[in-house]
Amino acid sequence: MTFRSESSSVPSTVLNDGQTIPSLGFGVFLVEEGDTFGAVTTALETGYRHIDTAAIYGNEAEVGRAIREFGVARDEVYVTTKLWNSEQGYDSTLRAFDASLERLGLDRLDLYLIHWPVAQADRFVDTFRAFQKLKAEGRVTSIGVSNFNRDHLERLIAETGETPALNQIELSPNLVQAELRAFHTEHGIATEAWSPLGRGAALTDPTIAAIAAETGRTPAQVIIRWHLQLGNVVIPKSVTPSRIRENFDVFSFELTDEQVRAITALDSGTRVGPDPAEFTAGLI
Ligand code: NDP
Repeated sequence: MTFRSESSSVPSTVLNDGQTIPSLGFGVFLVEEGDTFGAVTTALETGYRHIDTAAIYGNEAEVGRAIREFGVARDEVYVTTKLWNSEQGYDSTLRAFDASLERLGLDRLDLYLIHWPVAQADRFVDTFRAFQKLKAEGRVTSIGVSNFNRDHLERLIAETGETPALNQIELSPNLVQAELRAFHTEHGIATEAWSPLGRGAALTDPTIAAIAAETGRTPAQVIIRWHLQLGNVVIPKSVTPSRIRENFDVFSFELTDEQVRAITALDSGTRVGPDPAEFTAGLI
């Protein structure tokens, strides 16, 4: 049983394994255990059917509880979680997957991602081999990565013979990632944007404000629409009910090509998160 795209009002992105992922999801990084249940419930009430969590966020259990108590059928909600850096390696990955699934209270995951390459540990190839086993067993439907640069992707594909379905990377009007997105397109890897609003920083840009005024939309809606029109899967986070709803109300307007180009031109290469080539948190 896999996610049924026809049951969601959100457009889907088709992955290279033939599965589909809702193009707009709800991210829960930095949502405290205690706040996550309410935020995910509001998201589900609003119509989101795609939740993005991670083992390191400490809120998988509440994500799972919110989905269960909301009562949505398992095949109508798409759940992503991520393997933390300290668990990389074949056997440790299998154990970490079991633990994540148990915390989520699910018997199958839609998408499992290697959270960071941590190439210094040299374990991401073995980790992905464990992902392949989990996929072959039907315990996870799609497998992918996060924060992988081109060289990491090239090595993973060469050594495992499998192209990840998706790479979740930092991507916002401040960090447009043109080269990596082009590599993804060339290899059939879906691009998913984390910190899509630049963790709030992109919302005050004057160009975004001008386009918001032109379209009668909010800055967040303009940025989310820009992601969707670029072909990104996008997972904005908010704990504020009105913003959770605002960020979902992006399917009744379109940006012109000129507006998309003006936003893309804001690229300053500025990250809000760490550089994937250097990030080694959790390395033992
Ligand atoms: P976002 O770019 O989604 O920005 C979130 C911030 O913007 C919050 O402060 C939120 O405030 C605010 N905000 C949201 N909507 C609005 C709005 N409509 N108007 C004004 N302010 C708004 O940043 P995140 O870093 O949370 O990224 C999104 C998701 O990406 C994460 O939750 C996580 O799932 C994923 N992620 C993945 C990473 C990875 O390494 N793979 C790393 C980081 C994130 P408030 O909540 O107070 O409403």
